[in-house]
Amino acid sequence: MTASTKATKSWLNSLEYREKNFAREKLVINPAKACQPLGALLCALGIEGCLPFTHGSQGCTAYFRSTLTRHYREPIAAVSDSLTEDSAVFGGQTNIYEGLKNAYTIYNPKVIAVFTSCMAEVIGDDIRAYLGNAKKQEAIPLDFPVALANTPSFKGSHITGYDSMLKGLIECLATPRQEDRSNDRLYVVPGFDTYPGNLREYKRLLKVMDTPYTLLPDYSDVVDAPNLGAYKLYPGGTPLTEMNEALNAARFLFLQTYSIPTTSKYLASKAVPVETLSMPIGIAGTDKFIESVAKFTGKDVPEEITFERGLAVDAMTDAHQYIHGKKFALYGDPDLLIGLVKFLFEMGGLPVHIVCTNSTPLFKKAMESLLASSPYGQEGTLYAGKDLWHLRSLLVTESVDMLIGDSHGKWAARDANIPLVRIGFPITDRVNLHRSPIIGYNGVINLITMIVNTFLEEVDRNSPEAYFEMMR
Ligand code: SF4
Repeated sequence: MTASTKATKSWLNSLEYREKNFAREKLVINPAKACQPLGALLCALGIEGCLPFTHGSQGCTAYFRSTLTRHYREPIAAVSDSLTEDSAVFGGQTNIYEGLKNAYTIYNPKVIAVFTSCMAEVIGDDIRAYLGNAKKQEAIPLDFPVALANTPSFKGSHITGYDSMLKGLIECLATPRQEDRSNDRLYVVPGFDTYPGNLREYKRLLKVMDTPYTLLPDYSDVVDAPNLGAYKLYPGGTPLTEMNEALNAARFLFLQTYSIPTTSKYLASKAVPVETLSMPIGIAGTDKFIESVAKFTGKDVPEEITFERGLAVDAMTDAHQYIHGKKFALYGDPDLLIGLVKFLFEMGGLPVHIVCTNSTPLFKKAMESLLASSPYGQEGTLYAGKDLWHLRSLLVTESVDMLIGDSHGKWAARDANIPLVRIGFPITDRVNLHRSPIIGYNGVINLITMIVNTFLEEVDRNSPEAYFEMMR
């Protein structure tokens, strides 16, 4: 390395550079977010027989599919109507006709979920009118369900797209609410949650609590399908019969706040009872979830769940000394960050740098009041709308003990010489993490295992000979 390269590298780690880095306004470097249609696609995968359909270019769809495939290590089924230069001039109506016709004929879906890419939004394609015309021209049968979502990626993020698609799917598939009838089911909406392990844990807990429930959407068996020797194009999802009945739900329980505001508002406008909780990460968060479900069923919390809670509290007691007083930096989606910060507080950890690219004013207020509410939050600062290059500056000028986030943070962690515990999306350089829940009491144990064992591994790897011990 030349002397000038060395000098530049060292300047990149200086407070002077951090100041300049935080002064930048027009340039975003490595934002901790993905684009809207990716979230819409993931949401659509969670409905029985649903084929995700991008009204946009093939390249965009390739990006969504490859990102999801790299994260889940599964094939992700989705189609596109391949808008190209001529569509940019003449509009994409012909593409949508042909695309719907081919998708319906070749892939035999029960429902198609159409969402848009930037190009379709920039040229102003009216997908509702195009769909009506496609049906009139018999590209697909008149009564075939097609859900629609506008997902322009020059604003919002993957969580906005997820929200719009979920609303579009309910609008398309649910029959009107009947005032005098409820289906007595609890509709549980996890929000933008990339862990099939979480979705399966919700289902297990709801079953143990003898709850009549619908998980909406449920892509657990789609993005994490068993290898039984034959490929299934539609291996799972929320049953269409339960989608049809969604507006007659006894209650909707939302397990995130910031990833589903539009859907929540829509349901409230249809007089559907809605309750919103924080993502049940940590003991207190899980307690609230369990209490809410028990209140819904009117039954006592089963012994099995009390036992699980005890195991989690025991795991916390066994390991708190490894997390207590340690400093953390975190980045990711708003709901995940709120849950993780609460979990760290329960373990005595100190969240110091919190970067949320897709922050909102409401989230900012909630995170700041959460930090102010705990003695462990006093050193914490939320960097709303900042990216991972900002995060790098924070890590190299104001050191912490651990970084928590997805695989995109590995360069910043390496530059700051601190370990990265991979939680979030996408995780493309480790295996199986999406299969273990981070919610519920079992999630508490898994989080402790990941974080503490990473610290202990560091201690062993960096330990001088005289202090290399069996016990840690
Ligand atoms: S940001 Fe827009 S152009 Fe880029 S992949 Fe997403 S939808 Fe396509």
